Amino acid sequence: MKRRNKPKKIDGIFVPNGQAASTGINKSWSDNGVASFLEILSQVAQKYGTRIIKVNPNGTSQYCSNCLNRVSKTLSDRWHNCDNDSCNLSCDRDYNSAMLIKRLAVGSSQDKKLPSLRDLLS
Ligand SMILES: [Zn+2]
Repeated sequence: MKRRNKPKKIDGIFVPNGQAASTGINKSWSDNGVASFLEILSQVAQKYGTRIIKVNPNGTSQYCSNCLNRVSKTLSDRWHNCDNDSCNLSCDRDYNSAMLIKRLAVGSSQDKKLPSLRDLLS
């Protein structure tokens, strides 16, 4: 959670409250948090003799993890219902995305580039 500066008003006029000045620093701290997490995760994986595979999750909620059929959803659609007659997978939207991300990761070596949905669909 990020703290936001309160609006500053002098004589009925809003004046700069310093929020914009600290935005770049806040973003930098967030990026460092992700980088630190990945570093720790990598060390733990190495300790247990396994590895981490980074996957581009872009678009994974829009495809069926079972048959790769495109199933368009809005953000408010929380349930995945595949309309492919031979599949008919029905599950939570996030679970479907997780299974598709797992499918992208399994078998990839990560030696070249980040595995993405585009590779799987082509
Ligand atoms: Zn399907």
